[in-house]
Amino acid sequence: MSKSKIRIRYAPSPTGLQHPGGVRTALFAWLYARHENGDMILRIEDTDKSREVEGATEYIYESLAWLGIEWDEGPDKGGEYGPYKQSERLDIYRQYAMQLLEQGLAYADPYTNEEVQQFREQSQEASKPFLFRDYRPDSPPEWKEGLPLRFKVPDLKTYEWEDAVRGQSKAGPESLDDFIILKSDGYPTYNFANVIDDHLMKITHVLRGEEYIASIPKYLSLYEALGWEAPINATMPLVLGSTGGKKLSKRDGSLPILEYRTLGYLPVAINNFLATLGWNDGTEQEIYTIDELKNKFTIERLQKAPARFDIERLNYLNGAHIRKLSLQELYSLSSPYWPESSKDYDDGYRQKVLGLIHERLKFLSEIPELTEFFFTDPENTFQPNEEQAEWLGRTLNSLEGSDFTEDDLENRLRNLSIELEVKPGKLFMVIRQAVTGSKVSPGLFETLNTLGKDTVIQRIKTIA
Ligand code: GLU
Repeated sequence: MSKSKIRIRYAPSPTGLQHPGGVRTALFAWLYARHENGDMILRIEDTDKSREVEGATEYIYESLAWLGIEWDEGPDKGGEYGPYKQSERLDIYRQYAMQLLEQGLAYADPYTNEEVQQFREQSQEASKPFLFRDYRPDSPPEWKEGLPLRFKVPDLKTYEWEDAVRGQSKAGPESLDDFIILKSDGYPTYNFANVIDDHLMKITHVLRGEEYIASIPKYLSLYEALGWEAPINATMPLVLGSTGGKKLSKRDGSLPILEYRTLGYLPVAINNFLATLGWNDGTEQEIYTIDELKNKFTIERLQKAPARFDIERLNYLNGAHIRKLSLQELYSLSSPYWPESSKDYDDGYRQKVLGLIHERLKFLSEIPELTEFFFTDPENTFQPNEEQAEWLGRTLNSLEGSDFTEDDLENRLRNLSIELEVKPGKLFMVIRQAVTGSKVSPGLFETLNTLGKDTVIQRIKTIA
């Protein structure tokens, strides 16, 4: 028997800028599609006009394109099962809603908001959960434009399904209700549209967050009413903030995804980080290339336990991927990030400076902060005490005769520390502060060598 081709969709709503959580869903879908030689479908779920944010759809395309997540079918790409934007499929939803109405599986909702509120209160007084079906009208009005249409859940039974991550799952009739399928504005609800589209687009796997688990019985009962087979559900683990909050926030380092581009994170590092938020391949491996992820990713290895969004881990992974680049590759990626003051210097010098921070760089927007003193005299607040000023004076004497190769600088300064009877680390720190204005810099001898004799001597003279 031939296995049918995997078709998995990413179905974002353009209600805000893409954040890491949404992108993780897209990435999982894409990796799984590639792993299985299947198709990835991008569907834009824009049926809630009141929550739509201008530019959000373009932001989705741009984010995914930046990360190299490619879809095989979608609004901008076309495909056999389009259109792929829900707002362009309204007649399709209408057709199925009318079919359910004719079959007696849907009815017009005649109630005002006030009436529904009263039902809610009645349920509360009776200490029962509010279910609309308890107030289902005996003789609903004929449906007409402007009235919401509700699904009439036909069978109050227990549903069982196999979640590809969580295994056997079930829910009883308490999770079934008469939900709205067409709203008064003529648009479908998410609950209705996702079922129609997943079926018509021949989706085999649906990856969703935990918040959808409670709705799955509703979808299953709708699939059943329509005589369709439901796709496989796979529930992704939650992502919690590192600061303990349930919802990821800016405080956790969670930003609209393209801001990471501005900050100089590499797409491969973002993908590595997001892919391992709730997934592992059963080994201790932390650093993955995209090809490795495509080869190894399966839905079955998604975790049930929540994952933690730890920005320090992203920084670590980004640093690790930066170190894997050749200096040449890093240099070409770095061009937008150089400080203004570096513009007067040639490529050779800038590249040499970059070489000195390559090991330590966590993201590219750190470049100005880490390199500024190579291009311009620092605003130096370092004030040596008498003893340190004496050391700096002796340093000047010694450096006057140096050819400024790293070896010669090292020899001279180590000898000086012996002469002065001071630990090398102590002496070097004073020199470093005098020359760079900071306690952290690349190795001292490389730094002095790169800055060159004139600059170094002039800076020490200014301080000492
Ligand atoms: N449009 C939904 C959202 O963005 C997608 C949910 C789903 O994947 O079915 O939240």
